[in-house]
Amino acid sequence: MKSTLRRRLPVAVILLSAPGALALGGLAALGHLAAEWALAGVALVVVAVFAILYPHFAHVEALRRYIEALRSAGASDPLPKPPSGRSPVLAPELDETVVETARERQRRRRELEAAITGNETILSNLPDPLIMLDRGRRIVRANPAAESLFGGNLMGRDLISILRNPNLLSAADAAVAGEDGQVVEFALHGEIEREFSARVVPLTTPALDGTVAILSLHDLTAARQAERMRADFVANASHELRTPLSSLIGFIETLRGPAREDGEAQERFLVIMHDQSMRMARLVDDLLSLSRIEMQEHTPPTGSASLQRTLESVARGLELKARARGIRIELSLPDLPPVVGEQDELAQVFQNLIDNAVKYGRTDSRVVVAARLADPASDPAARRIARPTAAISVTDSGDGIPREHLPRLTERFYRINTARSRELGGTGLGLAIVKHIVNRHRGQLTVDSETGRGSVFTVYLPLAEPYEGLDDMARKAG
Ligand code: ADP
Repeated sequence: MKSTLRRRLPVAVILLSAPGALALGGLAALGHLAAEWALAGVALVVVAVFAILYPHFAHVEALRRYIEALRSAGASDPLPKPPSGRSPVLAPELDETVVETARERQRRRRELEAAITGNETILSNLPDPLIMLDRGRRIVRANPAAESLFGGNLMGRDLISILRNPNLLSAADAAVAGEDGQVVEFALHGEIEREFSARVVPLTTPALDGTVAILSLHDLTAARQAERMRADFVANASHELRTPLSSLIGFIETLRGPAREDGEAQERFLVIMHDQSMRMARLVDDLLSLSRIEMQEHTPPTGSASLQRTLESVARGLELKARARGIRIELSLPDLPPVVGEQDELAQVFQNLIDNAVKYGRTDSRVVVAARLADPASDPAARRIARPTAAISVTDSGDGIPREHLPRLTERFYRINTARSRELGGTGLGLAIVKHIVNRHRGQLTVDSETGRGSVFTVYLPLAEPYEGLDDMARKAG
């Protein structure tokens, strides 16, 4: 301010005082005015002009400083103080207009910055990778999902350096040239192969940063895997039904033809036919159970079930089958509170687990069914449920399960030895049913196994009500 005042004010004072000073000097030269009076007059004119100009210059300078402060203020900074005082020359409305314009500008800036921040947040949180391309197919921007998929540092690179699929590249070329957008499906080969659907669309008007087209990727891997699983499931189920059905058809034809008169063969065949029909019935029952449980899986059960009653009744039902193999089912059931759940579904879980232990256990051995309160401090599965939990384990002394099979054991129709499972009457769906019921009950299933020694299947279920003896029980269990 000082500099403007110092530079411009003296010049303006001199210029505006000059006509008066010249007139007074002329009068003195012509002898109409004494030189002292002329000098005094000039001094008076200068002082008067200065007195008029100073507040005007000071005000203009204050306005200039105000505008300068506005320019350097950020959108979130408070507005600088408007200039005080007034100019004898400028209209007072000018100040108001300047301040009003400044306020409006600040408001617009804030709106713009909020919109930009909002867009940035959306872009950053978008789970699908997004890449902006310029006219030369170079990457102008990429969101974090794209950076993490392709390893970061994408700016300025040609698209071909990260994606080599020829169809995708030609779709990108077309889009950056302003042609119609396209959808291209392709696979990314890495440690695990992933399938993507890519959509490349041109922008209606190029963005300021040079973006002319956007490439968005959508991961199809999970959906494709589900499609394949569904197709596999239908193929497996049909195959499982087809085998006993073919055998039944074969025997019926034999009974109607060559064995028509052979009473002994008929007896033998009918036993086999009965077994095959029972196998089909078991399979259909298991398929129906599975589909019913899957449909209910997203609605957790509301009732409560007594573990003791459920386990005792299931064990009793399997006693005959176990005895036939010389296996003793031992129950170790402390007085546990009820768990959240539906008695029938939980009975099916333990029926399948104890039945497997009997089927795959060694002859003349023991199957131990033990329930306890799980301690979250030492038990990760109990910790995952995050509320008081009962753990029920079924332990057999069978051949055990090789480690590599453990992750796939609960898949439908997954068996370690299909022939053996069929021979023992298995459908290959038992553990899939267990997994879905346990999921519905918001529980956990763990499998520990050692080949040659046996397996332990443990089901964790949340308790139905706060249990007063919990600490006590935990101490005993610990
Ligand atoms: P299955 O009807 O064949 O028994 P499951 O779904 O119940 O079908 O089990 C899948 C496979 O897991 C079985 O075929 C078997 O190979 C293996 N399995 C299940 N339980 C045990 C166990 N207790 N001991 C050894 N293997 C087991």
